[in-house]
Amino acid sequence: MLLQGKVAVVTGGTRGIGFAIVKKFVENGAKVALLGSRKETVDKALQKMKEELPDAEVTGYWPNLMNAGEVEEVFTKVKDMYGSLDILVNNAGVSARDSFYEYKPEDFEKVIDLNLNSVFICAQAAAKIMKEQGGGAILNTSSMVSIYGQPAGVGYPASKFAVNGLTKSLARELGKDQIRVNAVAPGVTRTDMVAALPDEMVKRITATIPLGRVGEPEDVANAFVFLASDMASYVTGEILSVDGAAMT
Ligand code: NAD
Repeated sequence: MLLQGKVAVVTGGTRGIGFAIVKKFVENGAKVALLGSRKETVDKALQKMKEELPDAEVTGYWPNLMNAGEVEEVFTKVKDMYGSLDILVNNAGVSARDSFYEYKPEDFEKVIDLNLNSVFICAQAAAKIMKEQGGGAILNTSSMVSIYGQPAGVGYPASKFAVNGLTKSLARELGKDQIRVNAVAPGVTRTDMVAALPDEMVKRITATIPLGRVGEPEDVANAFVFLASDMASYVTGEILSVDGAAMT
């Protein structure tokens, strides 16, 4: 019960890595607000969580993460309902693999908007509350491509490099307010995206991973539990790779 009594908001909490984070947080004693892009997917995720963990204290919202007013309103609601806001996980993200020659500027903007601008907006809204209450933890989902880049779809690695920069800089700026800021950089993780890949491709990817398997959402979620907990009380500004030592 590493997160007993803590209150968390997890963006992109409806499926994949985000859903696993919400579940692990609840199992560790946290109350959680999961955020998604639509009411239907949020309701579905809440239903699934109630089936898997009937006593879970979980609620859900679907603000536009690029709209500071909507985000502030939701975070204030969560704080008023549960008494505090101790942990924010900026996990919502999109990727695109277009060739650079065909990459449309509007698609680049879309990736940067969700993967970077929303992290800025959510972190700012949460930090204001955390500063007032004496501290907190802001965690971001980066990616292993934030270290190596990737050979197509440049918007995605660019956004994740920027997330690392935001993480390290905010750790330095917000330390004085006892707000820790860290990121987790997952390798290839078995979410819907990976499940849809042909077996042959998964085999090829697996061959490049020293641990001999792709990551499970729970592998990634465990790292978030650690960084969110008081076990990581002196860890800030860190980008923690959870990738089986994959080399791309
Ligand atoms: P996913 O596609 O399964 O889930 C994405 C989540 O983001 C969903 O909950 C969705 O509701 C939310 N989302 C998407 N668009 C949104 C929008 N416009 N507004 C609000 N929410 C929106 O993805 P995943 O694989 O679980 O990825 C989660 C995070 O992990 C992302 O930041 C991704 O970049 C990162 N990541 C994933 C992998 C992987 O292999 N799956 C590897 C490295 C990093």
